[in-house]
Amino acid sequence: MKTHKHKHRRADTRIIHTGSHPEIFQGAMNPPVYHASTVLFPSVAEMEAAVKRRYDDTVYYGLHGTPTSFAFEEAVADLEGGHRSVSLCSGLAAITAALFALLEQGDHLLMVDTAYGPTRSLCNNLLKKCGIETTYYDPMIGAGIAELIQPNTKVVFTESPGSLTFEVQDIPAIAKAAHAGGAKVLLDNTWSAGHFFKPFEHGVDVSIQAATKYIAGHADVMIGTITSTEELATRMKQTSVNMGYCAAPDDCYLSLRGMRTLSVRMDRHQENALALARWFKARPEVAAVLHPAFDDCPGHEIWKRDFTGASGLFGVILKPTSRDRVTAMLDNMRYFGLGFSWGGFESLMILDDPGHIRTATRWPHDGPCLRVHAGQEDVTDLIDDLDVGFARLNSGA
Ligand SMILES: *Cc1c(COP(=O)(O)O)cnc(C)c1O
Repeated sequence: MKTHKHKHRRADTRIIHTGSHPEIFQGAMNPPVYHASTVLFPSVAEMEAAVKRRYDDTVYYGLHGTPTSFAFEEAVADLEGGHRSVSLCSGLAAITAALFALLEQGDHLLMVDTAYGPTRSLCNNLLKKCGIETTYYDPMIGAGIAELIQPNTKVVFTESPGSLTFEVQDIPAIAKAAHAGGAKVLLDNTWSAGHFFKPFEHGVDVSIQAATKYIAGHADVMIGTITSTEELATRMKQTSVNMGYCAAPDDCYLSLRGMRTLSVRMDRHQENALALARWFKARPEVAAVLHPAFDDCPGHEIWKRDFTGASGLFGVILKPTSRDRVTAMLDNMRYFGLGFSWGGFESLMILDDPGHIRTATRWPHDGPCLRVHAGQEDVTDLIDDLDVGFARLNSGA
């Protein structure tokens, strides 16, 4: 299935054509949705040959993938610049399988202190139960990670920018130290969607995405991807199968369809988020705006060096105020939905407290924290909505 005919095209052209195989689908641009558990073989010999190739892109049994999932995976691998991708039933499943692929009892994991909350929960519960020890580290540690690497450290897990607080990590420096110490570097690349950050050009071994977010892009699909180097590709696939994870065929189809418009959607998310972030920054109610494109964001210089843009997700710290005033604002927004997840076409906000789960770093702010997802609406309407929201906050009504 994997062809390299699009390899040399520019990114925006590649994303339109990659994973498209009209020559094998009777001319159809998009792959059909294969609903398959059982796959029949014409002979015992061919069945036995397929067993040998079952971790390749071979149609073998539903759990191992179908032409629909393979087309999607080919496109994701191309987007991220890795050797191969595996699709799974959620972003969290992708994080779980990638970690279990590389860790065993007695191993040590270095986990960034700003990791997505459920990633942290996985480390503190399931991994711990399996005898895998986690040490949390400061996202700004850079080359200093070398001092935390032990003989049994197998994985350095990164997420850049950090969940909720958006610190940008020095991935090349971390990768250099990790590789010198014999550890692999994993990245949760969901924020950049693989569009604004190319992990394999910066030393990452395994890039994970909650494709649920920007790749699917329409708030209606749960799907995750693991993209890796050639060295680790089979191990990632095998572990995903061992854990019984596979992405649903309709979701693979929708995610590939979503990917075709990723570039234009990301441009709008970026533009709207920057306009909103600048507007927030000028408001008297706001203590700080957490956005990698702002020069007071930790790691801003690294973002400028390594990223080609910013997505639609950023943070706002309000000056200390009562909870009632904040909920008066959030409960009655017209366009900003109150909902988890992000990366869809719509604007969202959540109220969070990034400080309470940290263990390696201290959160310096004491005001309420809003995580904002800038959707693709007309930004003037979004600003009007926020302006009226702040009036509610100020009147306490
Ligand atoms: C949402 C999210 C995930 C998990 O993805 P699901 O598909 O919801 O399981 C992982 N990492 C980050 C940074 C996320 O925002």
